[in-house]
Amino acid sequence: MKFFGSMEAKNDELHIGGVGVERLREEFGTPLYVIDEGYFKSNAQIFLDNFKSDIFETRVIYASKAFTNLYMSNLVSELGLYTDVVSGGELYTALKGGAEPQKIYYHGNNKLYEELEMAIESGVGTIVVDNENEYELISEIAKNDKVKVSVLLRVNPGIEAKTHKYIQTAKDDSKFGMSIFNEKTKKLIEEMQRDEFIDLKGIHCHIGSQVFDEQFFFASANAMIEFAYEVNESFNLNIREINLGGGFGVYYTEKDNPFELSEFLKKYITIIEEKLKSLQFNVESISIEPGRSLINNAGSTIYTIGSVKETITGLQYIFIDGGMTDNPRHALYQAEYEAGIANKINAKKTQEYTVAGKLCETGDILIENVMLPKAETGDILIIPSTGAYTYSMSSNYNRMQRPGVVFVENGECRLAVKAETYDDLIRNDVART
Ligand SMILES: *Cc1c(COP(=O)(O)O)cnc(C)c1O
Repeated sequence: MKFFGSMEAKNDELHIGGVGVERLREEFGTPLYVIDEGYFKSNAQIFLDNFKSDIFETRVIYASKAFTNLYMSNLVSELGLYTDVVSGGELYTALKGGAEPQKIYYHGNNKLYEELEMAIESGVGTIVVDNENEYELISEIAKNDKVKVSVLLRVNPGIEAKTHKYIQTAKDDSKFGMSIFNEKTKKLIEEMQRDEFIDLKGIHCHIGSQVFDEQFFFASANAMIEFAYEVNESFNLNIREINLGGGFGVYYTEKDNPFELSEFLKKYITIIEEKLKSLQFNVESISIEPGRSLINNAGSTIYTIGSVKETITGLQYIFIDGGMTDNPRHALYQAEYEAGIANKINAKKTQEYTVAGKLCETGDILIENVMLPKAETGDILIIPSTGAYTYSMSSNYNRMQRPGVVFVENGECRLAVKAETYDDLIRNDVART
């Protein structure tokens, strides 16, 4: 198991943010999401320090769908990141958490009328338009409210990033955005530019997630800049912001080979600057939207091991007190993870195990085939690199209570989300009388 951030072994016990896993379990119970706050902050700083240019403003926008709650949205704003939201619920969380409305980007392929109204009325800085129909809704609300709404148009540069097909988003037939090769796209841009209640600031793309080949990002940046330049020239428009999305790949297991972020970001900036210079094209700002690469490796999940079971074929199962309800990624797209027995972190790995949850689904597996020390009931299993798309994808299937979230730093624990109780589970049920 690869250690990240402040993880360290003290005697045989894993500590994160200076806090031992035994203490975490005792104070907060398991399953528990543990976030290494110092490591998250240093990740954010890598983006802020390296995605910088002298010729345009840069923005680092945290894709909050990866992991958000009030504590997180507050932390993100305090660090100077912008926030991207994809639903009314994420918008509500960002606003309540203290994000400045002006620093929010609102995405999504089917924003509802009420959601758009809420965004416009709360002064959200930028709405990213997905399609013609959505533009009409925004225009109508803006006209009613007599406000000018700033928007970007989501386009597909036709880059097919090599990643799982469920997390590939910029293919020509993707449900997201509009192709730059589609004549309708140019028509929509022209129409928006003529609308007195719309300020079309620029264009946006997001080519996919968990992308490891930096060439895809460079190719899409070049395609986006060319497209913006062409549109400006041919329609006499003023596209001045280009948002290039997120998707930077991260480490889950030894099979993943992520690029070094600070080097990549510097190269990214150089390639963008060179492209702009070659076209003599000035833009006001270039933004990126990392989600996973900011939070994933700062988050771990700890569980208590229940039964350890050997099947007739000799397969060894470790059963944990959570499962696909707190981390559905293996069930959803065969995601792979490493693991450790956190109270025996230095012990020799002698056994191959499959880690299964307690839910009534055969697919409720978190890891297939992981080498671990001999596991016993009561041990603490840790699955690192579970900061992104786990808590935010959790469910109450089998009436499981969602786990709590604790941020740790310098020996201190800060509870960000309480574990749900049985009463939380029936809170919205209406009894039959
Ligand atoms: C999901 C998403 C992101 C973040 O993707 P990561 O892979 O988590 O970096 C950024 N922008 C948009 C529009 C997204 O939908």
